Amino acid sequence: MTKQMTPILAIVVPCYNESEVFPLCLRELSAVMAGMVGNGLIAGNSYLLFVDDGSKDDSWAQIEAACRGNGHVQGLKLSRNKGHQLALLAGLAAADADIIVSIDADLQDDISVIPDMVKAYLAGSDIVYGVRGSRDADSGFKRVTAEGFYKVMGLMGVQQVFNHADFRLLSRRACAALLSYREQNIYLRGLVPLIGFTSSCVYYDRAERAAGESKYPLKKMIALALEGITSLTVTPLRIIATLGLSISALSMVATVYSIVMKYTGKTVEGWTSVMIAIFFMGGVQMLSLGIIGEYVGKIYMETKGRPKFFVEKHVGSLRDAS
Ligand code: UDP
Ligand code: MG
Repeated sequence: MTKQMTPILAIVVPCYNESEVFPLCLRELSAVMAGMVGNGLIAGNSYLLFVDDGSKDDSWAQIEAACRGNGHVQGLKLSRNKGHQLALLAGLAAADADIIVSIDADLQDDISVIPDMVKAYLAGSDIVYGVRGSRDADSGFKRVTAEGFYKVMGLMGVQQVFNHADFRLLSRRACAALLSYREQNIYLRGLVPLIGFTSSCVYYDRAERAAGESKYPLKKMIALALEGITSLTVTPLRIIATLGLSISALSMVATVYSIVMKYTGKTVEGWTSVMIAIFFMGGVQMLSLGIIGEYVGKIYMETKGRPKFFVEKHVGSLRDAS
C-alpha cells in the first residue's frame, strides 16, 4: 500500500564528543533535508534531532546554539553518557514525526540515500535498512572485526541484516513497536528485525569518518556483541549443555576403559592424562558458569526495571518545558 500524505521526517543523530564533526554534520543534513522539503518529498516542519549523550566537550553548547537560530533543529540532552544504543532509543522516544531516520554524527553513512529511504517508505515499507555495499573506507582491522561480529552473531542465532548498522528509517508505528520492548538490554540491530512489518534495504558505500575519532574502540565493540548475543538468544546456554552432555558421554567410555584396564592388569601411571582431564574439565566448568552467570546477571538487572535514561533538556521542541 502506498502512502498519500507528505510525511514529517525527524532525523535522529546521537552525539558523544562530536564537536569536531558537528558543524559539518548539521550543514550536510540540513541541506539534504531542505532538498527533500523543496521537492515535496517530506513536510516543511521536518526536523533534525541531535541527542547529546553526556558529551564532555562542547557538543551540547553547539547543539543548543544550532537550535536557537533554526526552527528545524532540536536538541535532547541526556543526564549522562548512556552509550550509543540508549542515546538512539532516547531520540526515537522523543521524536514525534511520521518517519524517523537514525544516523551517526560522523557522516560515515551516505546521507544522500535518505531520499531513497523516504521513497521506500512512501512505497510501503515500515522499516528501511541502510546497508553498506562496501567498507573500503574502514581500516582492515575494523573490517575484519566487524565481519567477525556479524558471523558470530549469526552463528549464535541472532538474526540481523548483514552490514547494516544503525542507519535506518522507521515509520511511526515501527518506532512505537520498537519502544514497546521493555527490556533493559538494548541491541537495536537485533531488535528491529523482530518487529516484522514490511521492510526493504537501500545500499551505499561507507565513507571515512568526516572528523574526530571513533567512539567505538574494540572493547566497546566486544561489549556490544556480548550484549547482542546474551540479550537476544540462549544459544550459548545450549552450546554448553551440549558440550556437557558430550563430555559426560566420553567420560563414561573412559570409565569403562579404566575398569577393563584395571582387571586385565595393564594399569598405566596415567599422571599426564589425569592432569589434562582436570584442567580441561575445570576450564569447561568455569566457562560454563561464566556464561550462565552472564544470563543470571541479565535477569537480575531486568527484574530491577530501572529507567534506561533520563532526559535533562529537550530544546527547540514545542514540547520543551525547560
Ligand atoms: N555515540 C554515542 N554514545 C557513545 C558512543 C558513541 O552517542 O557512548 C555515538 C557517536 O557520537 C556516533 C555514533 O554513536 O554518532 C557511532 O559512533 P562512532 O562513529 O564513533 O562508531 P564507529 O563508526 O567507529 O563504529
Ligand atoms: Mg562512525
